[in-house]
Parts: sequence; C-alpha cells; structure tokens
Amino acid sequence: MENKQPSIYDFDINLICDYYAGLHRQGPGSPEVTAQALSFIPPLSSSATIVDLGCGTGGQTMVLAEHTQGKIIGFDLFPPFIEAFNRQAAALGLSDRVEGRIGSMDSPPFEPGSLDLIWCEGAIYNVGFEHGLRLWQPLLKPGGYVAVTEASWLTQERPAEVQAYWDANYPGIDTIPNQLLMLERAGYDLEAAFVLPETCWTEQFYKPQESWQETYLKRHADNPAVEAFIANERQESVLYDRYKAYYGYVFYIARKRTAHETAF
Ligand code: SAH
Repeated sequence: MENKQPSIYDFDINLICDYYAGLHRQGPGSPEVTAQALSFIPPLSSSATIVDLGCGTGGQTMVLAEHTQGKIIGFDLFPPFIEAFNRQAAALGLSDRVEGRIGSMDSPPFEPGSLDLIWCEGAIYNVGFEHGLRLWQPLLKPGGYVAVTEASWLTQERPAEVQAYWDANYPGIDTIPNQLLMLERAGYDLEAAFVLPETCWTEQFYKPQESWQETYLKRHADNPAVEAFIANERQESVLYDRYKAYYGYVFYIARKRTAHETAF
C-alpha cells in the first residue's frame, strides 16, 4: 500500500461539515484578533452594511457584532452552519441586525458599491485569495474595507514534508510579499497586516477539538471513514506544532482604492 497521507479532499464533505458544526470555530482565530483587525477600520455607523463571507457557525461574526453598529449578514454554503449561526444570534439578542444566509462567496448577491465592510476569516481559500479579493472589490462602497485571513508561508523556503502537505491540501498558499501584491492588483490599499498568534491555532482551534474528537468517535463507533478523518485532523495539528515557524494565518485589512486614486 502506498504510504501517503490523505488530504482533506479524500473525505466526504458532509462528514467534514457535520464534525465542524459541533465546534465554536471552524478555523484558526480568536475574539482578540477579530477585534484587533477591526481596530484598523474607522468606526462604522448604524446604517453600515457588513458581510461576513464563509462565516461558519458565526464565532467571529458575533465578536464583530459586539464591536460594531450596523447590519451584519453572515454568508455560508453549508445550511447547518447557518442554522447554528442564527440560533446563536438569537441567543445573544442580535437577531434584529445579525442574520445568517445560505449562499456562496463566489457570487455574493449584493449590489455593486453597497457594502461598507467585507469580512472573511479562514475561508477565502475556497475561491482563492486574489480571485476572491477581485470578485468582492466592486461590491464595496468607495473607501470600503476588506478584512481577510489567509494561509501564508512565513519563510521563503521550507522542509519538504510541510510543502507536500500544503501542495496536497491548498496549493494556493503563498508568501506574504506575494499576497500583498495580489491585494494591490485586486484594487485595494493595505491598511494593516499581521500574523495571527500561535494560540489562535493551538488554544482556539486545535484544543477544543480534542474532547470533541473523542465524543465524535464514540458517536460514530466502528466507522472507518470517521476514524480516518479524525486521524487526519490529529495529524494536521501535529504538523502545525512541528512546522509553525513556516506557515500561519495572516490578517490583511485593506481599503478599496477609488478611481481617482488609481489615476496616479
Ligand atoms: N469563518 C469561520 C469559518 C471558516 S471555515 C471561522 O473562522 O470559524 C470555512 C467556511 O467556508 C466553512 O464554514 C465553509 O462551509 C465555508 N464555505 C466553503 N465554501 C464556501 C463558498 N463557496 N461560499 C461560502 N462559504 C463557503
């Protein structure tokens, strides 16, 4: 048998989503980091419209809601995530201005020039960093903002094992200088960029999964597909621990460049 690590594409999407629906977050991040990214954006008024693309169950969206005024629309492809999102918004008394909708980030149904802020944590990889940024830029009002996290190489070179892992799972990962160029080419001016602290992966993302994995395995006893999936998840966190000096998530906060600014 070929001794090859599976990639995420080897698993059933329904299994992946069902597993992640039981977690507060579906990707690395933290309330502190969400608030930090928001601090680079001028305060929004109560008439502002914010869209959170690939919102998942809304971990970061509820933090956004706590720190902003205005209407927030969470968008995700997977209905159970949106159900959990709307339950959470209701429990927090936010349903009047925070709403989850099912939809795809590759065709967000918003009028050009209608959005004040587009948020996207740990999800732009689904359409590709530059492609997503280009697609969403026209939807922003002049001077509107985008805030996204993306997987980035933190060094120019890296060990073969970690390169092979990303080649199999997300070959679109790139270096920070290249991502800054993509951002500029997509019609934005950079406001700030920072690497997410390790705890966003370890404490916030992998640790809550440990007990959930036990529960999930018990719930799906003798299911080889579930066992293989959980083994893959565990391997991913081992890989992070071993190679965290080489990759991470970067928060990019940028402002839509307006027509007169591009003339220079
Ligand atoms: N922002 C959340 C979830 C990140 S996981 C967090 O940081 O916790 C990536 C999310 O993207 C998942 O919820 C997945 O269902 C969603 N997704 C995948 N493809 C999508 C698409 N084309 N449009 C919208 N959401 C998508």
